[in-house]
Amino acid sequence: MDAPIPTTDVLVVGAGISGLVAAAELQHAGLRVLVLDKGRGFGGRLASRRIGDAAFDHGAQFLTAEGPRFAALLEPLIRDGTLVSWKDSEAGPNRPLRWRGEPSMSAVAKRLALGLDVRLETSVSGLRRAGERWCVETATGGTFTTDAVVLTQPLPQSLELLRSAGCDVPTGLRPQLEAVDYDRCIAVLAVLEGPSQLPSDVGAVTPTEGPIAWIADNRTKGISRTPAVTIHATPGFSLKHWDADRVEAGRSLLDAAAPWLGVGVREFQVHGWRFSRPRIWHPEPCVRVSDAPPLILAGDAFGGPRAEDAAYSGWAAAAKLLQGRTGRHMAPGPTRPD
Ligand SMILES: Cc1cc2nc3c(=O)[nH]c(=O)nc-3n(C[C@H](O)[C@H](O)[C@H](O)COP(=O)(O)OP(=O)(O)OC[C@H]3O[C@@H](n4cnc5c(N)ncnc54)[C@H](O)[C@@H]3O)c2cc1C
Repeated sequence: MDAPIPTTDVLVVGAGISGLVAAAELQHAGLRVLVLDKGRGFGGRLASRRIGDAAFDHGAQFLTAEGPRFAALLEPLIRDGTLVSWKDSEAGPNRPLRWRGEPSMSAVAKRLALGLDVRLETSVSGLRRAGERWCVETATGGTFTTDAVVLTQPLPQSLELLRSAGCDVPTGLRPQLEAVDYDRCIAVLAVLEGPSQLPSDVGAVTPTEGPIAWIADNRTKGISRTPAVTIHATPGFSLKHWDADRVEAGRSLLDAAAPWLGVGVREFQVHGWRFSRPRIWHPEPCVRVSDAPPLILAGDAFGGPRAEDAAYSGWAAAAKLLQGRTGRHMAPGPTRPD
């Protein structure tokens, strides 16, 4: 006899900050929630990597909390030491306090995933309507049924999944969704032979000209014992060199960074973020593309290019699903005691 297909109330695709926040909110409302992510770790673009002893944040560099709800989300993480401030002296009327993950950014996502059912290394490859539900297929042959779906991948990936599944987006919504555009970012993670020349009071610079948008010293930042820098190329350089030899692109960026490094590079790796940050985003915080069964698109494509914006999108997606729950399938059970 075939094994029964696992069923859940809501299936969230993506364990980045938007998916985790949406999942926590829905679970808090009493729904059964399952999160699937194709990555090996939590966090999506809240990403960290090691090269030997050296540690790097190679996606988002820090979090800022401008809205009260995001500040409240971060509060317990600040209390338990998952978030620590990165250079208090930098905060001021025009620059909010920067928070970094401890030991690195992916720890933030790991902490937000506590208590959630998240399956990593589970890539969603297919989606189809099955009566009043969605049937979600994974690349490894798994199948789940669910009353509702929240897709939080970078928007072009969500639209591609919908297209390949024959779930068309309503015509009226299509132009705005297709207008969303992301910058690319080539990132270099370099282990140095000694301490860098980056200003030690700040530990990062944003050059105003040349191919580099950002250089951060991960040792000054407090995440690496070994001298190590993260370099982010500008969108223009990243686009121009996207299809070229990545190691060569990395070398060009290291050459451009030489005045800030002041020492040799022991080794380096290059990572390409195809969907780095939205350059053009959708004005709504999330979009419902199907009512019955419900399917919501969320993530930083909706609202802005920062982790905080992605979190607000996740909350908006959860609220939309909870508002729209009509039939027995979306009715929440008792709320989780705090
Ligand atoms: C280089 C760089 C620097 C940045 N710097 C900052 C910064 O300093 N401060 C800041 O606030 N923001 C920064 N950002 C932006 C911030 O990282 C993002 O806005 C935010 O993390 C997006 O979260 P998300 O949940 O919307 O998407 P993501 O984090 O991309 O999460 C989507 C998840 O979906 C998963 N996924 C995709 N396809 C599938 C599939 N088929 N099946 C299963 N899972 C799938 C992915 O693995 C991923 O984990 C930066 C981003 C980059 C790339």
